[in-house]
Amino acid sequence: PPSRSTFNSGGGGGRTGRVPVGIGRKRLRIVVTGGAGFVGSHLVDKLIGRGDEVIVIDNFFTGRKENLVHLFSNPRFELIRHDVVEPILLEVDQIYHLACPASPVHYKYNPFYKTNVMGTLNMLGLAKRVGARFLLTSTSEVYGDPLEHPQKETYWGNVNPIGERSCYDEGKRTAETLAMDYHRGAGVEVRIARIFNTYGPRMCLDDGRVVSNFVAQTIRKHPMTVYGDGKQTRSFQYVSDLVEGLVALMENDHVGPFNLGNPGEFTMLELAEKSASTFKMSHKETPIPCMKWELCVQVVKEVIDPSATIEFKPNTADDPHKRKPDISKAKEQLNWEPKISLREGLPRMVSDFRNRILNEDEGKGL
Ligand code: NAD
Ligand code: UDP
Ligand code: UDP
Repeated sequence: PPSRSTFNSGGGGGRTGRVPVGIGRKRLRIVVTGGAGFVGSHLVDKLIGRGDEVIVIDNFFTGRKENLVHLFSNPRFELIRHDVVEPILLEVDQIYHLACPASPVHYKYNPFYKTNVMGTLNMLGLAKRVGARFLLTSTSEVYGDPLEHPQKETYWGNVNPIGERSCYDEGKRTAETLAMDYHRGAGVEVRIARIFNTYGPRMCLDDGRVVSNFVAQTIRKHPMTVYGDGKQTRSFQYVSDLVEGLVALMENDHVGPFNLGNPGEFTMLELAEKSASTFKMSHKETPIPCMKWELCVQVVKEVIDPSATIEFKPNTADDPHKRKPDISKAKEQLNWEPKISLREGLPRMVSDFRNRILNEDEGKGL
């Protein structure tokens, strides 16, 4: 298919009037769907910061205006309350399509298959009409409960099509299929990112994801809830690393899919240990050595934080046992890799979470 790009960098060849933002680059008009959410709002900051125009489309299902309020007076920023399930007409150069709740707590209770399918279809229709470049934020969940470890992009996955998580897993798989169909059939410039678990400031306080849960629970002096035996593994990526990866992918020539994640792998018990230690960092800088999970509760209490405890809870259905990205493709083709370790990233979340929890408590008159 013919390339629609008319830019010397940045991609997308939409119908917008463009002004230079620096040597060798024109200002782009960019849509970020789901831009009021956790990842989206950090991405918007990055795009505005480099001089582009950004239009956020969000229905505020899980996103918050507070995540973007610092941009409201910026003439290059626009916020539209809109559900991507409905069509929309805009003239843009690039589309970052993030709209879709990412937490199991949220997506299980709503028909997110429709958000993924209709929302992605509409954004692809828009990309096709205006010749914009389209980036889909897919997920490591497309690998399901993986039988291959670590997961490469060539792995086709092991997904339950009828389970509680299916609206998300299969929804994103369908979104990938649609994106590739529009790429092959209509010449849309498509980019696909498969994002692994990401954390950082502005995550929903109570969205049930493990890092936000542990940090919020410890601040509230509640026990950290470890599901199952805590031996299941995940890799955790700091949000600024992800944003760098998404922009690198959008600006590059490769369609993907690309795994974007931090290959450092932790069990949930090791994570609980690190979360608790974060609150004691100023007093005790010594890294906590890895330990057997049976010792963890005791050590968290006695050595790290006397008030931090762990409570075991039954695990949820279809919870993947292991997950760890193979990121060699992104390293090679996008020259991207994550830089922030969990030990560096976790403390950056804490002040944001502390402030929000404090405000919440004040709001309740506590
Ligand atoms: P989030 O829930 O904070 O953000 C999603 C945003 O989309 C919210 O602002 C929400 O209001 C908006 N939204 C939801 N449905 C919409 C609709 N129908 N129309 C318009 N807006 C809608 O989640 P996030 O963590 O920022 O995730 C962003 C994207 O990254 C999602 O597509 C998610 O699947 C993907 N992803 C995230 C992670 C992660 O660990 N955070 C991992 C894998 C993939
Ligand atoms: N669409 C949209 N904005 C546009 C162009 C299309 O929301 O600027 C929607 C359109 O309403 C349709 C979907 O995108 O539901 C797919 O569009 P396409 O043109 O590919 O399909 P068609 O309309 O021919 O079925
Ligand atoms: N988990 C946990 N305690 C919590 C929340 C989650 O032990 O309070 C576990 C969950 O069972 C899963 C892992 O942490 O094994 C990651 O869960 P999350 O919902 O953050 O992400 P996902 O399952 O989408 O990878």
